[in-house]
Amino acid sequence: MLKLMRSEAPTSGAMIDKYLPPLNAFSLTPAEDDVIAEAMKSASPWDFKPPTKAEALALKNAKDKILAYHLARHDGNCCYCRSNLNGAGPYMTDREHILPKGQAVFKLLSFTMWNLAASCKRCNLQFKKSDDSFVLDKQDPAKFILSDNYLFIHPNFDLWEDHLCRLAVQVNTENIVLYARAASAKAQFTYDFFDLTGLEIDSFDRAQGLSTIAQASGAVAALRQIAATFGQ
Ligand SMILES: [Zn+2]
Repeated sequence: MLKLMRSEAPTSGAMIDKYLPPLNAFSLTPAEDDVIAEAMKSASPWDFKPPTKAEALALKNAKDKILAYHLARHDGNCCYCRSNLNGAGPYMTDREHILPKGQAVFKLLSFTMWNLAASCKRCNLQFKKSDDSFVLDKQDPAKFILSDNYLFIHPNFDLWEDHLCRLAVQVNTENIVLYARAASAKAQFTYDFFDLTGLEIDSFDRAQGLSTIAQASGAVAALRQIAATFGQ
C-alpha cells in the first residue's frame, strides 16, 4: 500500500515532502555522518574512497541505508517508471541523483536526501544519465527544493500517482502494461522523458481467443477502461 503523507507540512524552508517515511526522519550513525563529511571535502563526494576499512564500511552502510529508505518511500518501485524493484537486487536498482552529481553546481547535493531517490537502471542509465534539461532554474539553490522547478514528476516533491497510473496484468506469458496520464504537464513530460511508451506491452491482443485467458480478458477490458478514463 502506498504510504502518503497525511499532512504536507513544509519540512525545510518551502520544501514539501510527499512520501513516507519522511525525509527529515532519516538518520545515520555518527561514524556514517563523519565519513560523509569527509567525502564532501573531496572532488567527487559520491565516489570518495575512504582511507580506512572502517570508514569504507561506514560509507557503504550509509549508501545502503539511503537506498533502502528511498525504496521504502516508493514501496519498492522505481521512482520514475514504477517498475517493481523488490528483490531485483543491485543489478537493476540505482541510487539516483536527481540533480546530477557530476555538475559542479549540484555536487554539494551528493548526499542530500531530497536530491536522492531509488530508480531502475533503465530510467537512470538509459534516459536520465547526466541530463539536466528537466530543471528550469539551474543556478538558484533556493529553487532546487521546489516542485515547480522540475518539469518531470520529482521523486520526493511530487506524488507520482497524481500524474500517472501504471496498469499491469500478467497471466502466464501474456502481459499488458499501460501508463495512463492525467492532464498535467508533468505527466506528459515524464512519459516522454523516460520513454514510458517503450515499456507498454499489450500481448493480450495477440492472445485473444485462447480459452486459457478467457477469464483474464474481462480484467484486461476493465484495465483498458480505467486507462481510458484516468484523469478525467
Ligand atoms: Zn524506472
